[in-house]
Amino acid sequence: MSIKTHQYEVVIVGAGGAGLMAALYASKKASTAVISKLYPSRSHTGAAQGGISAALGNIEEDRPEWHTYDTVKGSDYLGDQDAIEFMCFKAPELVYELEHMGLPFDRTPEGRIMQRPFGGHTNNETGKPVRRACHAADRTGHMILQTLYQQCIKNNVTFFDEFQVLDLIMVNGKAAGVVAIEIATGDIHVFHAKAVILATGGWGRVWEITSNAYAYTGDAPAMILRKGLPVEDMEFFQFHPTGIYKLGILITEGVRGEGGVLINDKGERFMERYAPHVKDLASRDVVSRAMYIEMKEGRGINGQRYLYLDVRPETVNKYAKIDGRTNPDGTPYQVTAEDILRKLPDIIDFCKTYLGVDPVKEPMPVQPTAHYAMGGIPTNIKTEVLADEKNTVVPGLYAAGENACVSVHGANRLGTNSLLDLVVFGKEAGIHAAEYAAGAQFEPLPDDAADYARSQLDAILNSKGNERVADIAKEMKHEMMDKVGVFRTEEGMQEALDKIRELKERFKHIHIDDHGKVFNTDLLTAWELSNLLDVAEITTASALARKESRGAHSRDDYPKRDDQNWLKHTLAWRRENGEIELRYKPVVITKYQPKERVY
Ligand SMILES: Cc1cc2nc3c(=O)[nH]c(=O)nc-3n(C[C@H](O)[C@H](O)[C@H](O)COP(=O)(O)OP(=O)(O)OC[C@H]3O[C@@H](n4cnc5c(N)ncnc54)[C@H](O)[C@@H]3O)c2cc1C
Repeated sequence: MSIKTHQYEVVIVGAGGAGLMAALYASKKASTAVISKLYPSRSHTGAAQGGISAALGNIEEDRPEWHTYDTVKGSDYLGDQDAIEFMCFKAPELVYELEHMGLPFDRTPEGRIMQRPFGGHTNNETGKPVRRACHAADRTGHMILQTLYQQCIKNNVTFFDEFQVLDLIMVNGKAAGVVAIEIATGDIHVFHAKAVILATGGWGRVWEITSNAYAYTGDAPAMILRKGLPVEDMEFFQFHPTGIYKLGILITEGVRGEGGVLINDKGERFMERYAPHVKDLASRDVVSRAMYIEMKEGRGINGQRYLYLDVRPETVNKYAKIDGRTNPDGTPYQVTAEDILRKLPDIIDFCKTYLGVDPVKEPMPVQPTAHYAMGGIPTNIKTEVLADEKNTVVPGLYAAGENACVSVHGANRLGTNSLLDLVVFGKEAGIHAAEYAAGAQFEPLPDDAADYARSQLDAILNSKGNERVADIAKEMKHEMMDKVGVFRTEEGMQEALDKIRELKERFKHIHIDDHGKVFNTDLLTAWELSNLLDVAEITTASALARKESRGAHSRDDYPKRDDQNWLKHTLAWRRENGEIELRYKPVVITKYQPKERVY
């Protein structure tokens, strides 16, 4: 294999919302390249439906303080309050910045950006849902991604599309570049850099039922672990309440924001019992758990493991009346089939295509689906990657977006706060990486920079065992869904950990069919599976150690939150002998002391 070398001051891995926003800002001051295994506009940000949060108060009173408190509460008090406050107060400025770039938000009749309610976002004085999510129909992420990509093209950002990054180069404890494979040719490229920004998105492909793209394989966290650096709060992985039954494809919370309700086999709107104040718009961990309990107690539809999400106009209007919901002008909230079609066109389309169900006429069968990684690569507010529990900065290394843990989402993310996280911290990453690069030298590139990646690829290509990648992946996903999902126990998680370790052994004996160089997705899928196994293992080990229930981490054997012992972040390392080491660091608490969460 030939090796090509490139040099840029800042190299960004990932072309989703976080990577593109970072690229826009880094490229103003530094030579910048974006490397992406997907063509940029195929990044998962484009799948985001419901909206981006900002307390604009365009339709009713709202305040950044309320957004901050809701996010702290939603995080089950594990989020770092300084970072949350920073993000929520920046939100209006960033949303207007996107608007000025040309993002086609939906509008109020007066021409302001339209906003809808979303889970966990409330008026802190009345406790009622507040309209905080800014949206472009049900394709907000698509619009963000297209807008940012256009801006990057306009500003001459250099892209390496369909290049998959395999390894991070560290010299003298500093980031010095990355090693990537050009998917079309199989050539290895070394990117020499002063600063590296990691923005590779999530890893929902660890689980069987997921809303996540096939590309969500945790490449950056796996890479970080191989470099002896830690990951943070990996036990917190969000299950979104409404994935299409068996497929996992997401039905946005915006459906409930527009008045849709969850219904069990007895025709009951069961969320009334679990969250009397905000009902179907409680935070996602609360709703997913309620759904599991309904199904476990036999109230799934026809006794099966799914429930109905009902957005038929007659149902919406019935419950809007019961809830006393009003329009901004105070008139009763009522919808027609046309309103639903206009507000949720993609959802209607997905359901017709994948289920043969028309949501305007029939309820949608849904089940919780693995959705979002709250944990990830530890960073501070400047997005600098942290090496330990003392918050020691790794020079030249930055992370933003879903693969990072700032931590603004703590134990549970509120809907629409991820798109906000991408633009706020993507921008910070771009600014700080370029600033750092301006004052730094290129570290000398070691001759063997690409050796590790090459040897690992060769090992997969030459492996002659009889294990199949698809079989190992299937067993991992099933085990994780069953035992490290919405509800967890000591016994189940221990079994899962043993199983993952067995699968890691079996992975050493795989064989793949394609031994060519051109578009060898067989090879890269195997590589990605090894990343997923590393992420699954560290997630399970972190979860097993946390003996409490908080946010998305819910244990049958420790059903209560335990602030005395567990109000702290997990940091997890994989040591050279394969052992996992866990350490902890305190949560940053500024204004809001932990309280019981009531929705
Ligand atoms: C179906 C769905 C709906 C959602 N809806 C909402 C919503 O309404 N509101 C909200 O706030 N959040 C939503 N989210 C969450 C949010 O969309 C994501 O968390 C966010 O888009 C992630 O952005 P990112 O920039 O971190 O990663 P992505 O947009 O996924 O981009 C990752 C990038 O990294 C690249 N990459 C990955 N690995 C490598 C590698 N090894 N080498 C090179 N490149 C690599 C990929 O090519 C891609 O360009 C939703 C998520 C899903 C799955």
